[in-house]
Amino acid sequence: MKLFSIKGRSSIDGKHQSGAERIVSEKELENVLTQINKRLTRKPFDYLSIKVSLIKKQPCVIKSLKIVDVCADNVGEATEKAVKLLHSATGLSEEKIKKLIKTVHTGASPDGNNMRGAMIVDQKGERIELDPYRGVRTTEIDFIDRDEVLKKLEEKGYTERTADALAVSSKNMNYPDITAEFCTSDEPDYLTGYIAVKGYYYRITPLKTEGNTKGGRIYFVKNGINLKKLYNYLEKEAVLIEYTETD
Ligand code: AMP
Repeated sequence: MKLFSIKGRSSIDGKHQSGAERIVSEKELENVLTQINKRLTRKPFDYLSIKVSLIKKQPCVIKSLKIVDVCADNVGEATEKAVKLLHSATGLSEEKIKKLIKTVHTGASPDGNNMRGAMIVDQKGERIELDPYRGVRTTEIDFIDRDEVLKKLEEKGYTERTADALAVSSKNMNYPDITAEFCTSDEPDYLTGYIAVKGYYYRITPLKTEGNTKGGRIYFVKNGINLKKLYNYLEKEAVLIEYTETD
């Protein structure tokens, strides 16, 4: 079956506004293009692009991580829980992990802004992404039967945002040399973040302080990782995700 990758994004004055990404069959193409167009035009924009390309290599199919909800009374308590999870998945000291999380909370790009993509951090705690302004972006992903998956997630009280983040982190955790991921949104009123480790997606609230416009992702990797292969997997290889219910 012919599959197409669709990538849409809009911006205003060069600032990112909305994005949407799908992998669809030829039959679904027209409908999904209409849906994406609607989604992107909801916010004001002065630039909008929708790119469609045929996927040449058949995507591999992987299972989604299982969602675990973690509640905390405040950001401090949530961060402690996040740090413990990351420490046991990466072996990095709690002190180093806290410093890296602070970098995300204060703008991880060298100019103090948010990055477009993720930081990559090795087992020494050093940042090794090729471009620290941009980072690496996980793309070329979608759920099999996305509408069904969205329905199931919504029944459990989650949103499309959770679905998108679950897709990104499931692709990431499928890569043997990625051990864990940290994520908080760059939206000032969205305080839920997550830690992904092998098999699980820990959704943690509140993982950032209300009003903070800084957020980002950290991909924790093994020492000596081949960055060229990693970038190729995350940015170029199409992956389809089969949603797995949490027991
Ligand atoms: P979001 O989850 O969309 O609120 O994004 C939070 C932060 O994660 C952004 O500011 C980026 O730094 C980073 N980010 C967003 N999308 C991606 C992606 N597809 N791959 C890697 N990093 C991303």
